[in-house]
Amino acid sequence: MAQAPRVRFAPSPTGYLHVGGARTALFNWLYAKQTGGVFVLRIEDTDRERSTGESTATILDGMAWLGLSWDEGPVHQADGLERHRADAARMLADGSAYRCFCTPLVLQAKRDAMKDEYRYDRTCYGVPADESARRAAAGEPFTVRFRVPGGATEWDDVVHGPTRFANESIEDFIVLRTDGTPIYNLAVVSDDIDMRITHVIRGDDHISNTPKQILLYQALGAGVPTFAHLPMILGPDGRKLSKRRNAVAVGDYAGSGILPAALVNFLALLGWNPGDEQEVMTLDELVQRFSLERINKKGAVFDTGKLEWMNGQHLARTPSADLLPLVAPLLVGAGLLTEADVDARRDWLLWLLDLTKVRARTVPEIAEQARVFLADPAGYDPEVAAKQWKDREQAASVLDAVAARLRTVQPWEPAGIEAGLREAAEAAGLGFGKVVHPLRLALTGGGASPGIDQVVALLGREVTLRRIEAAKAWLAAGA
Ligand code: GLU
Repeated sequence: MAQAPRVRFAPSPTGYLHVGGARTALFNWLYAKQTGGVFVLRIEDTDRERSTGESTATILDGMAWLGLSWDEGPVHQADGLERHRADAARMLADGSAYRCFCTPLVLQAKRDAMKDEYRYDRTCYGVPADESARRAAAGEPFTVRFRVPGGATEWDDVVHGPTRFANESIEDFIVLRTDGTPIYNLAVVSDDIDMRITHVIRGDDHISNTPKQILLYQALGAGVPTFAHLPMILGPDGRKLSKRRNAVAVGDYAGSGILPAALVNFLALLGWNPGDEQEVMTLDELVQRFSLERINKKGAVFDTGKLEWMNGQHLARTPSADLLPLVAPLLVGAGLLTEADVDARRDWLLWLLDLTKVRARTVPEIAEQARVFLADPAGYDPEVAAKQWKDREQAASVLDAVAARLRTVQPWEPAGIEAGLREAAEAAGLGFGKVVHPLRLALTGGGASPGIDQVVALLGREVTLRRIEAAKAWLAAGA
């Protein structure tokens, strides 16, 4: 049997969890789940100045919120320092790397002179091994550079297909700094070998690192993993997503009423599609359907409108009992409900959520729609009133007839209420709509709501009759 895949997500803890990083994590996670593989989390914290514990915590929180649990880790890259050095030493010993004694000042002068054309000129390439060792022993500072061979480096990228770099386009890159700490490419390869990573799935901003990394695998005598480079995520303006122009932190979405299942679903479709029309998928469905082969090369646009639509789809499918803990604090915060009500009126609130969640795109929108069920309307939408209560006297008499009928409906439930309203309409010689719209305005202050039978049932007899009376008084006042 083929070896189970081992994949990793390797964020640098220098900020929050970016949606691009979250997408990389998700694709790795999906691939591992689908293939029975292992998903490793590695925190790339070798950059001590920029890495923070706080950032690591934010990344772990974001992953947990998205539901992307890891099978191994978090492994801290900085803990591998001795191995990184040992790998560099091995390459020095067998000649696939060499010490470079060029000083930063000299290198900088060359860089300034050559600008974009600059590439390390191999001044130290030919320093004989014994001289190199002597100078190092004497305390002369050095970096370790990889000795890039001739020829070309190629791999069959799962997303981009056969990809090839002429080695002459790659300079003899540094693998170990003067202070003995590894450069990104060495640390990553050393770790990926150590963790037996079989598939490297990451953003295509890393494509230019890949030939260097492949050369390192070869020099270290390790098998080269499979690479899949994910397309860039673009803002609606077609430019690379940027934190200045776009909301890019997973935490921003968590805080704005987006469900993790919706964000995960949305991220999955950034660069991947299932090959048919299905867009709304649960995490389980994504695991079933995901495939590396269906990832596109083309940049994927992060369309916030689509994310909100997706969120609406997931809200509608989420059990109201799961939504209540998200919506209740907003209602309590708005003074529409007390903490005690949340328990005491639980069944009623769940019913309210059943009605509102299917018409909202975010959690705050649910709370906004719920408002009218918890507080009498503060006024009546003038446009709707001009239309539905055009003839005030007639409107008042319709409302009066409705109130009379609703006073006796038994039992108080949607079907009986609707039947009662139809009877009232018939008795008044009016179409059903001519009763429903004026009544909806009286009860909600506006022209849009869930079905009137549900609205009336949910409000209850007392509140319904009170609001009808208030509307009649408003109509009589001729305001
Ligand atoms: N730490 C790198 C980053 O944050 C990822 C390294 C990799 O996936 O190879 O972009």
